[in-house]
This record gives sequence, structure tokens and C-alpha cells, in this order.
Amino acid sequence: MSAEKKNLDWGNLGFAYIPTDFSYVCNYKNGAWGEGFLTSDHSLQISECAGIFHYCQEVFEGLKAYTTRDGRIVCFRPDLNAERMYASAQRLCMPPFPIDRFIDAVKTVVKANEAWVPPFGSGATLYVRPFMIATGDVIGVKAATEYQFRILVTPVGPYFKGGDTSVKLTISDFDRAAPRGTGNIKAGLNYAMSLYATEAAHHAGYAENLYLDSQTRTFIEETGGANVLFAAADSSLVVPKSATDSILPSITRRSLIVVARDILGMQVVERAVKFEEVQSGAFEECGLCGTAAVISPVAGIEKPEAGISISFPKAANGAGPIMAKLRKTLTDIQTGEAEGPQGWVVEIN
Ligand SMILES: *Cc1c(COP(=O)(O)O)cnc(C)c1O
Repeated sequence: MSAEKKNLDWGNLGFAYIPTDFSYVCNYKNGAWGEGFLTSDHSLQISECAGIFHYCQEVFEGLKAYTTRDGRIVCFRPDLNAERMYASAQRLCMPPFPIDRFIDAVKTVVKANEAWVPPFGSGATLYVRPFMIATGDVIGVKAATEYQFRILVTPVGPYFKGGDTSVKLTISDFDRAAPRGTGNIKAGLNYAMSLYATEAAHHAGYAENLYLDSQTRTFIEETGGANVLFAAADSSLVVPKSATDSILPSITRRSLIVVARDILGMQVVERAVKFEEVQSGAFEECGLCGTAAVISPVAGIEKPEAGISISFPKAANGAGPIMAKLRKTLTDIQTGEAEGPQGWVVEIN
């Protein structure tokens, strides 16, 4: 049954778009979602007046499909991506794509591109990017009446080439999300407005910005594209919580909390975390979590002009013991090497 794999150098893929055989498309018109279908056309032709171009109605998701040791193709908790995209769409006045149809569409498009799913052990995965845009015309400010839901897939290499790489963060002068704004939904607009700050961080030699809550600039929120975790000296996992609900609900973070608490028997505390605490050395380890890298260890947080220089010596050369254990446990579950909670790993067939 297994399709012949494409002739790619699986071990050396980067994180860049490679068109595959099929994308999935479903259009919304006259108040209803139509039949979804596969297409080999990877471009779109839409009106210059489409809502996406003017008022930025766009939401997206990201998940991965991969091959297990015994040759099955699986993905991880697609139901949570479906639910999150549903909520994101509602927030931007877009018609939510039904949860069950989202999961079916992911299965359909991954199955159709089976030959592009990297083999077990290559470190590479098939990145799955569902997204939705307003295709209907709008000129006055309002929600469009026509939309397209689409899924593209593309094979990608491991996020960090050469394995375990620690990153350094800086504190941005800009904010990522307004209190009670759109920080908790996965929408391109949150990235458009933070690119400037991200480029500034890169230019200064940092991997990412750590954002503080924009209301008080006191509490840890997250980075531009990943949630933050801390390990305390007593080995508990401390997970920052936002007073203004402006942290993106990372599926990796929510899964790691279950792994830590129920599988590793760790104490997990979800609470507001003051940046002051981090500065005072309350935490031994820090990690960034998201689908792409699962956990990236943080070696330090610096802002020389403000006299900020925090280091996490345990992550100087890769993950410290707690982040390493969390990452390994979750990765083993995701790849089918270890048993996880019921329903987390979904087979494509
Ligand atoms: C997607 C995203 C994350 C990570 O979420 P996962 O579901 O774990 O991939 C974190 N922060 C932001 C801002 C994001 O867009």
C-alpha cells in the first residue's frame, strides 16, 4: 500500500517550502462550505478586492505528519488544531471550518502526499499548514462573505540542524499582543505586526524576542512563535499564564503539561510569572515550546542596554536535564516509540 517515496535527500532538508503533489481546497459561498477537493494547482487566483488583501482576514494552523518505525503515517492531536482554528476564525468573523471536516481534510491531503512523508529516522517531517482566507470582495470595512480553506503540505528538515541547539532571547521594546486583543488566536496579523521586532532581535544576534505583558510589562507572556516554560530549583515545571489571555494556546505546551504531570510525575504550576523572578534566578531551566522544535532550550535572556543578562547554565550547550526529559518523552509519544494518552497519535490511512 505504501507509495514509493520521492527521491529527496531526506536527511538534509531545510525549513523551506517545496511544493508537493496535492493541496486541499474548500470554498465557502452563499453561507455554506462546499465540497472539499484535492488540487495539484498550488497557486490561487483571486480578486484584487478580496478581504484578505485589505482587512487581513486570515487564520492558520501548523502540525506535522511523520512515519513511525513500523511504517505507519501519523499526526499528533489534529483535533486540537481543528478546535483552535475554529476559535481563531470566530474571532476574525470568518466562518469556522467544521472540526470533523478539518480532521478528514488533514488525513486526505497527507494520504494523497504519502510519497512526500519523510521516512522514519530521517529527522524530517511533512509539515501540514491549514489556513483560511477571505476571498470575497470588500471595500467598506466589514467581513467578507466568501472564503477559502486550504491545506498545503511540505517536507521539512529538523528545526535545528545538528541537533540540540540552545537559543538566546532578548526583550523587545515592542509588544506582541494587546490585552484582550488577538494574541490568543493563530492569525497572520499577529506575525505581520511582530516581524519588525523579530528582525531587530535577529539583527542583534538573538533567536527571538521574549514579550512581557503589554498592560504592565511585568509578566512573561511568550516569544513571537513559541510558548515559554521554566523549571524551578525544586524540579517543578512552571508555566506562565496570562492575566489578559494574550498567550497563544500552544498544543505542545498543553501536551507537555500532561506529560510532566501524568507521565513523569512532576509538579506543574500554571501561574503568572513575573520577569523579576526570572531575573532573580528563580528558575534553573527555560524552554520554548511549539510544534516545530517541540522544546528549544534557552541559554540566556539579554538586553545589554537595560542591564539585563540572565543565563541558564544548564542549557549552555543544549537542553538541561528537565527540558531534555520532557522533550524526549513527548517526542517518543509523537513518533509512536512510547505509549501516550489515548487519541493523541492519529493514524492516516
Ligand atoms: C503556533 C504558535 C505557538 C506554538 O503552538 P503549537 O500548537 O505548540 O505549535 C506558540 N506561539 C505562537 C504565537 C504561535 O503562533
